[in-house]
Amino acid sequence: MKKLIRFVLRYVPRKYIQRVVHFCTPVMGLLYAGRGVECPVCGRRYRKFMPYGYVRPRENALCPHCLALERHRLLWLFLQNETDFFDAPARLLHVAPEYCFIKRFERLPRLDYVTADLESPLAKVKMDIQRIPFPDDAFDIVFCNHILEHVDDDRLAMREMFRVMRPDGWGIMLSPVNPARRTTYEDPAITDPAEREAHFGQKDHLRDYGLDYGKRLAEAGFEVDEIDYVRYLDPEAAKLYGLRSEIVYRVRKA
Ligand SMILES: [Zn+2]
Repeated sequence: MKKLIRFVLRYVPRKYIQRVVHFCTPVMGLLYAGRGVECPVCGRRYRKFMPYGYVRPRENALCPHCLALERHRLLWLFLQNETDFFDAPARLLHVAPEYCFIKRFERLPRLDYVTADLESPLAKVKMDIQRIPFPDDAFDIVFCNHILEHVDDDRLAMREMFRVMRPDGWGIMLSPVNPARRTTYEDPAITDPAEREAHFGQKDHLRDYGLDYGKRLAEAGFEVDEIDYVRYLDPEAAKLYGLRSEIVYRVRKA
């Protein structure tokens, strides 16, 4: 059973898993029954989280109930503790919306919630992030997580998100960042999926961001805060929620 789960998580894209998760949840709940960890997004407790990862699966990563990963749980806590996201009236553009967030954000009564994606069936608006079909200053908040590493012209996409954000607006724009690289590694000549996996870590990644990722966001016009949010949390809480260190890139349009 464990091998089967690992196989599915390794080879089946998460967008397909998301469609059938409701049928699997009761079984996973039994397999992972326990109280060692707690998912802050859905509130469920388990013995531990499920392993997840394309190349080298990480232990204790995926919530069996809502499919939140470490970064989603971290982001949820960040939004809860450090922003007025759950209370303030706002219009949100959520690019490539994460399954674990959609229903919970839809329930927020003061949120005007717009989901958008190039291909995901979970999103309401079909769009290319390099040509966002909304006027200037249309949104108070923009979320775009783990997308820019897949986009041909990520600088253009960043400028587009800046354009549709109203002045004083803010956003969260996470991407996988390789801390061993000072500067981003990219090469548009590398197009073969296997080559991309070898060079950029995943077959649909177009680059391996380095520590200059925040600078690239700033070049699009944003003020950028790079927050290693796990450091601000109690170590016991970080353990309970199954978190790992990941920089939260919070952007603002001054
Ligand atoms: Zn969960």
